[in-house]
Amino acid sequence: MAKLFFRYAAMNSGKSTQLLQIANNYESMGKTVALFTSAMDDRYGFGKITSRLNLQRDARTFSPELNFLAEDFGQTACILIDEAQFITPEQVHQLHELAHTRNIPVICFGLRTDFRGEPFPGSGMLLALADEIEEIKTICECGKKATMHIRIDADGRRVKEGPQVEIGGNARYRAVCARCFYRL
Ligand SMILES: [Zn+2]
Repeated sequence: MAKLFFRYAAMNSGKSTQLLQIANNYESMGKTVALFTSAMDDRYGFGKITSRLNLQRDARTFSPELNFLAEDFGQTACILIDEAQFITPEQVHQLHELAHTRNIPVICFGLRTDFRGEPFPGSGMLLALADEIEEIKTICECGKKATMHIRIDADGRRVKEGPQVEIGGNARYRAVCARCFYRL
């Protein structure tokens, strides 16, 4: 049976590149994939998934109102979700049900925690329900594995307070290890 996967990482870890690579693999076998990204994140244009290598694909968008169980997945061989930290806990349940009742694998790529080290609600539920969880590894400037990220302002200073969601481009975030997260 199909599974719900959660592949998480810190910011700027190449998650979108991996997602587009998987889409490509399926399509090279003549299969159809459904790509989703957050309706909130329009850094690169509404409904686009863009990787650091400048690959770009159109995607369907999800907002908190979307019911994944009501979407038409016809011949879809795999559902790929970028910015999965923005899905709601209820949507995680929908995707889990989809994978197990309709036998479509669902692969979610997203952040585990925000810049304060707090979990995104959707990511918390993904960690609880996903059948397989995998960490995409990134390196901190100090050489250790980056598991957190920090938000920085336009002058490069660290910002510790503010709303969980403030989409201002990847340049506003830096992936760091836990030691640097507490010491910087
Ligand atoms: Zn570090």
